[in-house]
Amino acid sequence: MTRVMLAEDDPAIAEPLSRALTREGYQVTVSGTGQGAVDGAPDNDLLVLDLGLPDMDGLDVARELRASGHTVPILILTARADEVDLVVGLDAGADDYVTKPFRLAELLARVRALLRRMEGDTPNQEELVVQDIRMDVSAHRAYHAGRELDLTEKEFTLLKVLMSSAGKAIRRESLMDMVWGAQTASLPKTLDMHISWLRHKLGDDASAPRYIFTVRGMGFRFETNPS
Ligand code: CA
Repeated sequence: MTRVMLAEDDPAIAEPLSRALTREGYQVTVSGTGQGAVDGAPDNDLLVLDLGLPDMDGLDVARELRASGHTVPILILTARADEVDLVVGLDAGADDYVTKPFRLAELLARVRALLRRMEGDTPNQEELVVQDIRMDVSAHRAYHAGRELDLTEKEFTLLKVLMSSAGKAIRRESLMDMVWGAQTASLPKTLDMHISWLRHKLGDDASAPRYIFTVRGMGFRFETNPS
């Protein structure tokens, strides 16, 4: 049975989250302190870690676990939405993060994705989850807020490439290379057309995007966490 430790001192979050994780079939242990997480996490398959714990900072929990050689995947919960803290969190050895307030479905999807990644699945079987979009790559299916998207082959590949590098800007040339290979030399507008179709299917507005951002003079970025 997959064991998940939840380090969260706020019962209003810990209790429903613990119930939801249990419903998903995980064996859940809740710790209200950072020390409890440091002691308990190595016996678990995943640590869901709140940064604001009463006795120590969640970042120090992550650092301490990594410093003593523990590789348990860590999913950070944070109300500190600014990017600096998130980068620091990942530097401290965390594997992923979700900002509060979070949607339960998104958090559970991140938990599944992390556990799957740690199982060492081949890239062909991977699941990509960014915001409320989930791609089941091996099944060649994509979902937006739980609803299946009807994507063409190229749209699927384009979305996969963007989501695989979520949070990072990707150059137009790289995108064209990865999606079309040599086919695009004569079709410079192809990428823009596909981006536009993909945005339409995601309900994304190019002038106020939530998912696909234009990086001027460079390319595009799939946003992990729009404010
Ligand atoms: Ca807290």
